[in-house]
Formats: sequence, C-alpha cells, structure tokens
Amino acid sequence: MPLELVTVPCLEDNYAFLIHDAQSGDTAVIDVPEAAPIKAALTERGWTLTHVLLTHHHWDHVDGLADLLADQPADHPAKVIGAAADAQRLPPLDQEVAEGDSFTVGGDTIEVIDVSGHTVGHIAFHAPASKLLFTADSLMALGCGRLFEGTPAQMHESLTKLAALPGDTTVCSGHEYTTTNAKFALTVDPDNRALISRSKDIADKRASKMPTVPSMLQLEMDTNPFLRASDPAIASTLDMTGATPLDVFTEIRARRDRF
Ligand code: ZN
Ligand code: FE
Repeated sequence: MPLELVTVPCLEDNYAFLIHDAQSGDTAVIDVPEAAPIKAALTERGWTLTHVLLTHHHWDHVDGLADLLADQPADHPAKVIGAAADAQRLPPLDQEVAEGDSFTVGGDTIEVIDVSGHTVGHIAFHAPASKLLFTADSLMALGCGRLFEGTPAQMHESLTKLAALPGDTTVCSGHEYTTTNAKFALTVDPDNRALISRSKDIADKRASKMPTVPSMLQLEMDTNPFLRASDPAIASTLDMTGATPLDVFTEIRARRDRF
C-alpha cells in the first residue's frame, strides 16, 4: 500500500507534509514551519509521529521542531533526519544523511537526493514506491528556489536529477508561490499551451483558496521554465538561440529575481 500523503498549510505560504504507512503506523513529517497545524493534523487522524525529515536549515522549515517534539512520548521520540552536510546549522539530528543514502518509513524506502542551489546542503526525499518527492525550495510548483548560497550550475544540476524521475511522481514543494511563478513563466514561455492552461487552472484554484501544491512532475516538465532551459522556444524568446541550457537557465533565474 502506498504511503498516505497529507498536505499541511503552515505560516503565510509554507507547506509541511505528513506521510503515513497504515500497516506499521509509521508517520513522518517533512519540514516543520510551525508546530500547531502539524499537531492538529496528527491528532485529527490519531497518528503518532515517528520521523521528522528536514530538507534545509531555513527558519521557515525548522522553527516548529522543538515545539512539535515537546509533545512526543519520552520512550518513543520521533527520529529527526537531515543532511550531514548541514548538521552544524540544523536542529540536533538523530540521523545524518547524504545523497545516495536511504532509510525506511513503514514499508517504504526513502531515498536522499542532494539538491543544492537554494542552500548548499539542501536535500530532497524521494519515496519511489509511493511516487512521492519532497523538494521544499529546490524544484517548486512552476518555479525553483532563489539561489541564496549555490550557483546556477548547482541548481541546474539538482533540477536535472529530479527531472530524470518518473513523470507520474507527485512533487511536494515548500511554498505557495505558484501565482507569481505562473505570471513570470508566461513572460519567458508565452506560447506554451500547457503553461497557458495551467496558469488558468492556478488562478481558479487560488480564487477558491485551494493549494496548487503538490503538482505532478510531468506537468512541471511541460510547464516549469526552470526544467525547460533546453527548449528552443524559450531560448528564442530570451534571444539566446544556440546558448547552452545552463546559460538559458541562468538567465531565467536572473529574470525571476528581478520580476
Ligand atoms: Zn528556504
Ligand atoms: Fe522556504
């Protein structure tokens, strides 16, 4: 049975996620922007937290952790898992992981992918059997995270790894930025029919306050400009015909920063 997924809106525009294995009862949260909505989502379902997976050290992904763990039974504390490369600036970890490592939540294997760029040491979690991918501020719905620490080349490489995963993977990213991302995407890829139709869908969803996260990887492949830097139409719109995908990606990221 695939892991059950619950999206938990937090703070102004963050998302945390719960995954739950019905057979074992194992339950993991991915990122902890604040404790209260996560506690409420657990209580509502009668689930007990067994794992905490942290993607990166930014406050809006870890600040609720101490409060969340304070509720944990002393004999069965949830195991906190995060990047070895970032251990010095993450909350205390019970397990440090790096690209290529894997661990289990219930019956499911979770693989660690290094997706440096937004920060150096940012990791994504991939549950291949359940086709779930937790990307936080690396690959985002119609966008990618701002480059606070890494280079465009690092982010491009990170996104290229994610793009190689199966198209029917569900992408669980960290923020509700999709409305702005859609407006920007249309400036670099204005004739993309899939993007035009997705933009309408996003406007409809947000008009009724529905989340646009998670999204399907194939839809990101078809519409997210940061995954489409090798598309000749985008290069042409940017007056960069013949440029390398990395150069086009770098230009798209720079334009998004100014947007
Ligand atoms: Zn961040
Ligand atoms: Fe964030």
